[in-house]
Amino acid sequence: MLRRGAPDAVLAALPGARAVGGAVRDLLAGRPVQDVDVAAPLPPEAIAARLRAAGLRVFETGLAHGTVTAVRDHEPVEVTSLRRDVATDGRHAEVEWTTDWREDAARRDFTINAMSLDAEGALWDYFGGREDLAAGRVRFVGDPATRLAEDYLRALRFFRFQARYGRGAPDPAAVAAIRVAVPGLARLSAERVWMELKRLLAAPDPVAALALMAETGVLGAVLPEGSDLAVLAGLLRAGAPVDPLLRVAALVAPGAADAGLAGRLRWSAAEAARYAAARSLEPVRGLPEGAALRRALAELPPEALTDAAWIAEARGLPGDWPALRARIAAMPRPVFPLQGRDALAMGLPPGPGIGQLLAATRAWWLERGCRDDAEACRIRLRELAACAAI
Ligand code: ATP
Ligand code: MG
Repeated sequence: MLRRGAPDAVLAALPGARAVGGAVRDLLAGRPVQDVDVAAPLPPEAIAARLRAAGLRVFETGLAHGTVTAVRDHEPVEVTSLRRDVATDGRHAEVEWTTDWREDAARRDFTINAMSLDAEGALWDYFGGREDLAAGRVRFVGDPATRLAEDYLRALRFFRFQARYGRGAPDPAAVAAIRVAVPGLARLSAERVWMELKRLLAAPDPVAALALMAETGVLGAVLPEGSDLAVLAGLLRAGAPVDPLLRVAALVAPGAADAGLAGRLRWSAAEAARYAAARSLEPVRGLPEGAALRRALAELPPEALTDAAWIAEARGLPGDWPALRARIAAMPRPVFPLQGRDALAMGLPPGPGIGQLLAATRAWWLERGCRDDAEACRIRLRELAACAAI
């Protein structure tokens, strides 16, 4: 049925276990199945013991939430005890274990995510998920307002699943409840918000879902810097790769006061640098070629220039941006040919002066289009050293 190694081994090791959530949805939708999550009507310690007895490796990744990770042949499968919520506060849930599959399905967010599939291939669908999936309806399990108040992240998740599975008009009850739930979004941790936003931005075409998100006030709540969907649409039209960070660089309105964005969303230094480089269009202005392009490539990684070329095209700035990207891809990155040890090998006295002389030599090398080789740079360095000694 799933015809996969590790999930089948997990199902075989746990009596009454079923595949749950996204894998079941994607299997029914005829889409590629990513990770297979499994649930079982057993407490987590019993799950771990049975998996180990069956020869699988088990990592207790989230025991308090009832989740362990089983690994076979390097393939991980998350296995979770059936749960029921005992308390929710809009961000977290306190859970207890249950053996009731319907209860476990009832705490899942959308009907299309609440189905399960047992080892014999029988589908368990308590809330009409199969029909909703076929009709392209993203519908909350239960009362939308109640489900949102339990966990406001579900407002963001709605748009993620709407972007991927929604067809036709979005569920009016969901949209009405989300509109009312907007103030609750402020209670979510930035990590969870960014994780969800990233997954929305990874959808093949998130523009319509984002437009609905803007219209309901959700987008403004999570991106108060301001957004420009036309630029994002331009990025998609240009054929840019599906890349959440490039897409967010297009989505945040040009000229927005975005200095706090990376910190607020807890981006890594690499993410923050990539976003900033994609939006600083100065290095690609004038569609550099020849010496100017070599200079730009000596100063910045090629990805930064390519990202900036995508953003420039997405904003509709005039120029042949695909040609610039092709030039960037074809040009080797120039590397300044001297290092501190070369200067020492030339007999220059050690000390801070060497760094300054090398920097001046590099500036000269850049100025001349990064073409001079090590020997030419050494000659220049010697000249500069001689001048400095005067
Ligand atoms: P994807 O393929 O994009 O990972 P997924 O359905 O696996 O989609 P996950 O975020 O990985 O989505 O969550 C796994 C499952 O857990 C969901 O299908 C849903 O049943 C449940 N779930 C996850 N987050 C929530 C939530 N905040 N509220 C209720 N149920 C949730
Ligand atoms: Mg998943």
